[in-house]
Amino acid sequence: MTSIITIKNLSVDYQQTRAIDQITLAIPMHVRAAIIGPNGAGKSTLLKAIMNLIPTQVDKLTIFDSPVQKVLHRIAYVPQTSEVNWNFPTTVYDVVLMGISSNRWIFHKIKAQDREKVDDAIQKMSLYDIKHRNINQLSGGQKQRVFIARAIAQDADLYLLDEPLAGVDMYSEKIIMDQFSKFQKEGKTSLTVHHDLNTVSSYFDSVIMLNKILIANGPIDTTFTAENINQTYYGSRQIVDAVYEETGVIHS
Ligand code: ADP
Ligand code: MG
Repeated sequence: MTSIITIKNLSVDYQQTRAIDQITLAIPMHVRAAIIGPNGAGKSTLLKAIMNLIPTQVDKLTIFDSPVQKVLHRIAYVPQTSEVNWNFPTTVYDVVLMGISSNRWIFHKIKAQDREKVDDAIQKMSLYDIKHRNINQLSGGQKQRVFIARAIAQDADLYLLDEPLAGVDMYSEKIIMDQFSKFQKEGKTSLTVHHDLNTVSSYFDSVIMLNKILIANGPIDTTFTAENINQTYYGSRQIVDAVYEETGVIHS
């Protein structure tokens, strides 16, 4: 299968701390992949490195066989909501609209067709009733859905999502996960930082297991094993047992 992302020997240092160490990774097209690992494992750093938002040391990093800068219009990146300033005076509608204009720079004139795309994305994320609301008046689930709506409006081929289910209610979780299924059916690829080990097998078809170094990357069946979970979570038998108990789907 063709790779959509190819990374060779990626390392990231923040001042004196090494956050990611010599990661080599190839992501096939059309996968719905989870990125998992404990707090501080470098999950967010990996997405930022792929987006070229932070300085890196790397031998090769290509997306669609091109340098990232050349294909940014084909990638939708959704940061962790905790990293965003929600006091910025703007509305749900305008944030979603930014998904379209971010591809074409700020002087781009908004066309009727753009408005349709924005309305469609807002509808898909069930945000219609609150589309004129200021973004500082949203619940956790609504914030995440606004970001996903912006990503839908962007109409990308690759989606990079940082904990889109963090702090969301069941209703939002369902809407968001249904949309991820649609992305996959439309032939899109997604990498999602995910914190809940119990839903990895049901929500994703492949997994990237990270703890500063890459522990494993591949299809759920062969990769999300007790041994790899053990290694990713500092040999915590408790975590492995808890996930096994909850899901019964760990293949050793
Ligand atoms: P994760 O998303 O897996 O929780 P991060 O990628 O956010 O982990 O962070 C990886 C490591 O890098 C952690 O030790 C974190 O404290 C550190 N780190 C992240 N961002 C910065 C920053 N801007 N400056 C300094 N250290 C950072
Ligand atoms: Mg993070």
